Amino acid sequence: MADSRAKGNAPRKTVRSIGIVMAGRIYAGLVVDHKVQGELQTYPSGTSPREPDGDNALVELPTDALIEELCKLVVSVSTRCDGPLDAVGIALPGLIRNGVVEEAPNLPQLKGAKIHELLFTKLASHGISAPVNVLNDADGVAAGLASRHGKLDHMIRVWTLGTGIGYGHYPFIEGVWEGGHTVVSLDDKEHFCGCGGRGHLEGIMGHRAMRLRFLDLEPEEVFAAANTRHGDPRCLEFKHLWHKALAAATATSIHQAGTGKFFLTGFNVRFVDMYMLKDYLHQMVKMSPIQGYSIEIVEDDDITRVIGSAVAAEQAAER
Ligand SMILES: [Zn+2]
Repeated sequence: MADSRAKGNAPRKTVRSIGIVMAGRIYAGLVVDHKVQGELQTYPSGTSPREPDGDNALVELPTDALIEELCKLVVSVSTRCDGPLDAVGIALPGLIRNGVVEEAPNLPQLKGAKIHELLFTKLASHGISAPVNVLNDADGVAAGLASRHGKLDHMIRVWTLGTGIGYGHYPFIEGVWEGGHTVVSLDDKEHFCGCGGRGHLEGIMGHRAMRLRFLDLEPEEVFAAANTRHGDPRCLEFKHLWHKALAAATATSIHQAGTGKFFLTGFNVRFVDMYMLKDYLHQMVKMSPIQGYSIEIVEDDDITRVIGSAVAAEQAAER
């Protein structure tokens, strides 16, 4: 593996790359030896809205315009780079295979877009020839957390609890890995997932799905009502369902890929009752060889994501 060669006695060379994250807006940063240098740049510029789900600047932007803005950011960030650029990594919410966005429910205009080819060509016309890597945003979060928590030699998994539910895996492995759409219910009435599939994790836990389920209450009101002394029965029942769903999807991942570290991140980790989650998980994973898992809530920030995009791109360039 390229990784193990890099650990020899030869002096390590400085690795410079640019990490980009497309979420509600685009964030880009220069990453030198796995650390962000200077401020992140964003499109649109300025501070993002405080409320979750309030940042929709990219939804109306056609693919060509989006590529144009991505390119401008990379060019702008690259002016701060004091040596050759090793890689450009971009993470976006969608199913990505071979640089093509095969599905992107939250940025529907990108479906079918050959992001890798478009961006690589556009950057080349600006004199930037570094390899470009496109990956799913949750995999980017996993790579970023692995880097920041000193776990680049470990397998880690992450659930991102936001508008949708992302499932990230580090190190990168080829495949679909749409863990957010893990089936966790056989109830026909569970039809709130953005992909249209029944019984999905995201259809229970996703912010958008919760709004569809409780048309009269915001998700934070649902959890607040569930957590009062005599919890509202409908909200309390949902709180249990929400935790059972996450436990079920995590248990499935453990049964398939084994034990290890799971990180929870995203703006809705505020709803997680760790005691309840672990209790359900304990009921679902009973075989002793696979009980060595751990779960940790970690801060969701753009810097981690930008580092993850960059680190994943560096590793892809070495493959
Ligand atoms: Zn789904």
